[in-house]
Amino acid sequence: MIIMGEDAQRVKDKDAQEYNISAARAVAESVRSTLGPKGMDKMLVDSMGTVTITNDGVTILQEMDIDNPTAEMIVEVAETQEDEAGDGTTTAVAIAGELLKEAQDLLEQDIHPTAIIKGFNMAAEKAREEVDDIAERVDASDEELLRKVAETSMTGKSSELDKELLAQLVVDAVQAVTVEADDGSHIVDLEFVEIETQTGRSASESELLNGAVIDKDPVNDDMPVEFDAADVLLLNDPIEVEETDADTSVSIDSPDQLQQFLDSEERQLREKVDQIVATGADVVFCQKAIDDLAQYLLAKEGILAVRRTKKSDMGFLQEILGAEIVSDLDSATDAHLGHGSISRDADAGLFYVEGDDAHGVTLLLRGSTEHVVDELERGIKDALDVVSATASDGRVLAGGGAIEVELAGRLRDYADDISGREQLAVGAFADALEIVPRVLASNAGLDSIDTLVSLRAAHEDGDVHAGLNVFSGDVVDTYEAGVVEPAHSKEQALSSATEAANLVLKIDDIIAAGDLSTSGDGDEGGPGGAGGGMGGMGGMGGAM
Ligand code: ADP
Ligand code: MG
Repeated sequence: MIIMGEDAQRVKDKDAQEYNISAARAVAESVRSTLGPKGMDKMLVDSMGTVTITNDGVTILQEMDIDNPTAEMIVEVAETQEDEAGDGTTTAVAIAGELLKEAQDLLEQDIHPTAIIKGFNMAAEKAREEVDDIAERVDASDEELLRKVAETSMTGKSSELDKELLAQLVVDAVQAVTVEADDGSHIVDLEFVEIETQTGRSASESELLNGAVIDKDPVNDDMPVEFDAADVLLLNDPIEVEETDADTSVSIDSPDQLQQFLDSEERQLREKVDQIVATGADVVFCQKAIDDLAQYLLAKEGILAVRRTKKSDMGFLQEILGAEIVSDLDSATDAHLGHGSISRDADAGLFYVEGDDAHGVTLLLRGSTEHVVDELERGIKDALDVVSATASDGRVLAGGGAIEVELAGRLRDYADDISGREQLAVGAFADALEIVPRVLASNAGLDSIDTLVSLRAAHEDGDVHAGLNVFSGDVVDTYEAGVVEPAHSKEQALSSATEAANLVLKIDDIIAAGDLSTSGDGDEGGPGGAGGGMGGMGGMGGAM
């Protein structure tokens, strides 16, 4: 027996499913308009008024203030896709939403959720097998193909304009950190690729540099800035006078006392500089502040010092220089130092640091404004992920809806051999996949039904790579046209979309501590959060 509070509300069976499906679909549909090269961007304004302009599915969903637990499952699809594949988030979410729409129709025909879930699982497994069968095998050294993969993932993003140059940079970066294992497989270590951004110049001036790029100035103009062979100290400890306890105040009554006090401060700083000299360091990158006097003393010792180095830069310097970050200067020894060369571009205000042993590269992305470089960085990160996945996995697919239409056809054949209600669910799964070409077409201002009909016809004729050229509206061999996606990302999208849809379908009972129909105040998740309905999204309405 369940005893519920007076305000509690319970929604069961069909009503619960309907409620959940509508919420999840609403979220999925909100990002569809961004899919593909002709997709639109969204402007997101958070409660602090910060503006993000993006086309990136997962970024949009994360910035939307969603406080409905079912809708949040859809956000999780995007996050899983982002973590596992780095791209394809909008696709995964669109498929999840469409699976739920199809499920809704089946529920209306009195098909039990269990049968739908089972059918969806069978279809997803079959689809993944077919992806592997359809995929083309490529070699990790096939630069042209890797470039196409990068370009496909960047289309529609702000990186679009300079995509040839940027795709080349991405491929070069990935190849710089790819090693061939003994068994002939390729391992890409993206840890050794750092992204640095600078505003003020155009994206076409972006470049790939060996080593690290540190966007900092020396703390003193008299310091040397060029080293062929530098011993580098990475310090996460301020080079400042140590604070006396907060509640002890120093009372100074005479000029003598003042002098004494200053002397003791100077002594402390001199000691710290001596400690740095004792390690044998030529260069010190400090994550914290450096006192003015210490700056002067370091310059006099001929040591280059940089203060307030970014944490991410410190981590990268550690990797490429083979250094150890020292968090207490007292314990620093020469064993902590890293080794490499340093050069300076004074006009750009940058240091270039190359390690002696480890190979690291930095993609220096430029753009006119903060918004431009931020979106550029998101696009480049996706491209790095897909190119590295392709280099290590070696399987690619034709994009522009080609893979989805081919899978749908194969799943319909597969459904013919299945008996019972699962057959309908497998057929529904096939229909749901076609959301991708349909949305690609409608986002390009094309008729989605006409497009789908032509695509299906081409695939029935055996054109496995027939997809949509969103610019001309024609059905073309998208693989030949260079619209190429990694198979790994598609497999992941199929899995995570199916899991999310099934999770929603399994729920037949919502017990909410509050009233489901009123708008919540965005309190923490839990069943109570259901009270929030789509309230959080309502606020986004104007920006969509
Ligand atoms: P996602 O977040 O799913 O990666 P995108 O907005 O990046 O969403 O769109 C990806 C879809 O766009 C894929 O189906 C891909 O095949 C398609 N696509 C990319 N470039 C082209 C192109 N030049 N022509 C047709 N389709 C393309
Ligand atoms: Mg993409």
